Amino acid sequence: MQPLDIAREALRRLAMRQLQPTPENYRSLYHEIAGTKAEELFPERALKLVCSTLPRLNQAQIEFVQRLESAVGSRSWSAISGSLVGLLRAQAAPQRKWTALLKDVFKQLERNHASLSFAQKHQALQQVLDSSNGELDALYSRMSALADKWESADEAGPTPAPAGVEAVTAATDNSDAALRDLFARTLEGVVSSLLIAAPDLRDEALELGTVLREVRDMRGVDDLAARLRNLIYRLNWVVDDQAEIRAGLMSLLDLLLKNISDLVIDDRWMRGQIDALRNLCDHPISARELDEVERRLREVIERQGSLRGNIDDAKHQIKLMLAGFVEQLGSFTDATSGFGNKMEGYARTIAEADDIGALQGVIAEVISATHEMRQTTERSRNEVDTMRDRVRAAEAEIERLQLELEQTSERMRHDPLTGALNRKGLEESYAKEVSRASRRGTKLCLAVLDIDNFKRLNDTYGHNTGDEALLHLVATVRDCLRPHDTLSRYGGEEFVILLPETSIDDAVIVLQRLQRELTKRFFLANNDKLLITFSAGVTVVLQDEQQSSAIERADVAMYQAKATGKNRVVVASADTVSA
Ligand code: GH3
Ligand code: MG
Ligand code: MG
Repeated sequence: MQPLDIAREALRRLAMRQLQPTPENYRSLYHEIAGTKAEELFPERALKLVCSTLPRLNQAQIEFVQRLESAVGSRSWSAISGSLVGLLRAQAAPQRKWTALLKDVFKQLERNHASLSFAQKHQALQQVLDSSNGELDALYSRMSALADKWESADEAGPTPAPAGVEAVTAATDNSDAALRDLFARTLEGVVSSLLIAAPDLRDEALELGTVLREVRDMRGVDDLAARLRNLIYRLNWVVDDQAEIRAGLMSLLDLLLKNISDLVIDDRWMRGQIDALRNLCDHPISARELDEVERRLREVIERQGSLRGNIDDAKHQIKLMLAGFVEQLGSFTDATSGFGNKMEGYARTIAEADDIGALQGVIAEVISATHEMRQTTERSRNEVDTMRDRVRAAEAEIERLQLELEQTSERMRHDPLTGALNRKGLEESYAKEVSRASRRGTKLCLAVLDIDNFKRLNDTYGHNTGDEALLHLVATVRDCLRPHDTLSRYGGEEFVILLPETSIDDAVIVLQRLQRELTKRFFLANNDKLLITFSAGVTVVLQDEQQSSAIERADVAMYQAKATGKNRVVVASADTVSA
């Protein structure tokens, strides 16, 4: 039969049997006619409605409803039945309450087990927490199993924890562990490395780091605190000692410098360096200032080395000369006194001679002695000549050395007139500051300064006054800048200033403050109050930039300052900085 015929027959029988024309009646007649079995309908809508009304108050409920929904979605009665069975089974699981379970777990954590360390228990608990993936049922059963296992494990004698002592439950807290680790690392890494000069304290700091990681009860914390207090107390002594040692070293250095400056009283150039160095020593020094001290000391030492070499050489030449003269004098005196004695003898022989014949032998001897004497004199003269040549050569050598010394001083790091760094000093300083800035991610600014109308000042008041004006400018700059800014004399009346850890806006402020200061401090030349001004170009130094490129940019800006009226500060325009 075709479905259409079955449908027609079903409707006919509905009428015949006088049944209500409901879908159910139609459906059962349809199957009766077709000879098929009526399949039960799946009540999906009704079941979904039921699912939507189920409570989802905790993770377990949420998961159950999700399982049920997915079973309904797949129209699988067996899956629906499976989720319901799971729910009932979970309810039938051991009914230990969570609070009771947690109490158990803590109790077992604190117990002093023979075969289980605290760390092992801590680790096992952590594993249970991690592996349960937030499923409360699973967590509950695993934690219960863990507590049961610990409960049945052997105890290591009576628990020593005195009554009333609170367990360090925080030990199970991750943030506490992180904090303890940080503190331990501070002790082991930082504090101990600062205590190279105090090995006892260093060892104690290292040990306390280890103890800190392992402490697990209040008693341990108390012991640790007492040891820490003791360490801090002793550290204070170390700090005091170190301050005292530092002060002692500084005063030793000061003494040494004073001594050197007394010794080389004639060397004005060197005195200047030493005074500058002593000024640096009279207050607490930063790392940058130490660089400066080192640079100056190296210069003094180099200079001294050259001087000493020179002096030794000169002394040696003088010794040679004296020894030569004494030798010459000695042999010459020997020769002349021998000649005199001989001549006296001959004179006596001649006076006593009776005949001319007897005189012949004497005359021959006189001639021979005189000849010998002339040879000795000649030899002496030759030797004196040779010595004079040697002395001249020595003099030339000293002159050459002195010239070399001058050249050495030119190659040094400070400008002899102003005491500011010279180009070599600037190069060293620049290299250090550029790498510091890149390491610390800070800004470094560079300014080029050129004194305005300096030629006119020279022409009007003379070169010496010009030199004094340069000193006046340098002194003012020094007073205005911070200790770690550096000033270098780049050319005749051109200077470069390095400003570490300074933004371009602050660099402009610094330079303008310097200009204001110069207007306040007059420079006196022949009782004339003169105003020294400068024009400046300033730029921020790019990361790892070459010195020449930064100076070139600042120089262009400086020329703009000159071109637009002088006594001004111009920032290198942004299009020349490809930062
Ligand atoms: P501007 O404002 O354009 O810079 O003019 P200026 O006269 O300062 O510039 P210029 O470059 O024409 O002249 C610089 C002068 O500085 C020329 C030189 O004689 C003088 N000078 C350079 N070095 C020294 C020095 O060590 N001592 C003295 N007294 N003068 C110096
Ligand atoms: Mg110039
Ligand atoms: Mg100038």
